[in-house]
Amino acid sequence: MEELSTIQQVRGWHKAAADVGFVPTMGALHDGHASLIRRSVADGPVTIVSIFVNPTQFGPNEDLDEYPRTLADDLELCRNLGADAVFTPDEPMMYPPGYATWVEVDGLTGKLCGASRPEHFKGVTTVVSKLFNIVQPRRAYFGQKDAQQAIVLKRMAADLNMPIEIITCPIVREPDGLALSSRNKYLNEDERRRALVLRRALKEVEDKFKQGTRNTNVLRSHLQVTIGEEADKLDYAEILTADDLSELAEIDRAAIAAVAAYFGSTRLIDNVVLEV
Ligand code: AMP
Repeated sequence: MEELSTIQQVRGWHKAAADVGFVPTMGALHDGHASLIRRSVADGPVTIVSIFVNPTQFGPNEDLDEYPRTLADDLELCRNLGADAVFTPDEPMMYPPGYATWVEVDGLTGKLCGASRPEHFKGVTTVVSKLFNIVQPRRAYFGQKDAQQAIVLKRMAADLNMPIEIITCPIVREPDGLALSSRNKYLNEDERRRALVLRRALKEVEDKFKQGTRNTNVLRSHLQVTIGEEADKLDYAEILTADDLSELAEIDRAAIAAVAAYFGSTRLIDNVVLEV
């Protein structure tokens, strides 16, 4: 496996590799990331993973400094999963002095996570655009765990005519249902136990939906009340269309139930797709 830390090295490596699958990450890799790498390795001849804790997608009071960094373990995992290369740029390489260009997707990014993290998606779309330009993949893999991110990046790739297929992979969970996240490391025992409410509430909403409930107010209230009982603070509980995050009163096409809540100071997200 090639360990590439400069943009020049990636460009040199790329000359020998045409059909590239790409998995962008912020490191602290877990089985959710591993599922994306496995899928890319299965789909094509060459896989590159990037590991970069992107400062521009963190708000001023967010956890950039505390964000877990486990590079040696991450490299070993990538190697074991059959990745061909890992790209680990540093901050001055991605954002050199004088850096002034941003990629923004309107509309979609004002909802859900974008409402409470106003600069977040601008940072994500900018860094992913830069990584796409550096790596020039044919396919890029993202997790359904960050459902809004996948929708925003599909919009960006289509709008900017990027010749890249965006592939969304299922959420990987702990045996007890908690969605894997690098931020789960922040949870103490009590917070970890209470955080299970996210999955439980979403599962209950999925069951109600399967039993015929279609009214989004009813389903949303269930999420709000159930999560409100266990979380320290509910950020949002929403039911929106799965393709473009529009509001809907009755679920008559694929929808997503998406939640974000704080357990202690840790903000966790989760979601479920409700297919008609
Ligand atoms: P991150 O390192 O948090 O930026 O995540 C990198 C990629 O891994 C994103 O596309 C995430 O959606 C994906 N990912 C994170 N957690 C999970 C999970 N539990 N299941 C599936 N994909 C995930």
